Amino acid sequence: MDACEEIRRNLEQVQARMAEAALRVGRTTTDVRLVAVSKTHPAEAVLAAWECGQRDFGENRPEEGAEKIPVVAGAVGTARPTWHMIGTIQRRKADLVVAHFDYIHSVDRLVLAKKLSSLAVAAGKVLPVLIECNVSGEESKAGYSLYGWEHESKVREPFFREVAALVALPGLRVEGLMTMAPLTEEPETVRPVFASLRGLREALQEQLPQATWHHLSMGMTDDFEVAIEEGATLVRVGRAIFGQRSAGVMV
Ligand SMILES: *Cc1c(COP(=O)(O)O)cnc(C)c1O
Repeated sequence: MDACEEIRRNLEQVQARMAEAALRVGRTTTDVRLVAVSKTHPAEAVLAAWECGQRDFGENRPEEGAEKIPVVAGAVGTARPTWHMIGTIQRRKADLVVAHFDYIHSVDRLVLAKKLSSLAVAAGKVLPVLIECNVSGEESKAGYSLYGWEHESKVREPFFREVAALVALPGLRVEGLMTMAPLTEEPETVRPVFASLRGLREALQEQLPQATWHHLSMGMTDDFEVAIEEGATLVRVGRAIFGQRSAGVMV
């Protein structure tokens, strides 16, 4: 089977599993968008998925996106995919992100948000963004540390203040939250992480109704069905579409 056929079959399977998960909880398939995470895979893999109708793609490293995105754009003509930045952004790479990406999932500090906002203003655009939250308490995970926010006002209050400043930035439009659950073989164990992010969104809706809190970006290859059952509107799936990444490559 050639690589293109394999990607087609994988995409169909992921979409079918997404639809079943949505149906189980009374949601419709159009409520959840699939972001195909193409990191470490070449532009050809993106184009194969594009041929199958896939329109949203995710990358976690600004430099890799800055190389791949123009190659894909050159090959697809006027219709453009939507490119999602899902990885940690160093402030000095913010210009690459604003130049190449359409949607940012990984805003995790105010200094970065300010930089992204001023670059967007200079480019004459407003960038839709999500705020990355670490609600699992796992130390290796990026994002605002929010473990225990439900019970601890000293965790919650500084975050709400920071988000209020973030929401006011002219070059960004905050649309929701993103999280990464701990890696697990058993997806049920991360259900509380996704439920916690949904709860946090409800709290923010009350605190800061001036922003739209529509999106929850959560769920990857191992846990996207549970994430959809818990309210994900964007799932970020790499391996189940493009296959395993080579060993030793940073994920
Ligand atoms: C790599 C990555 C994904 C996709 O992971 P898979 O396990 O390949 O589905 C999702 N989100 C982020 C932030 C990633 O870096």
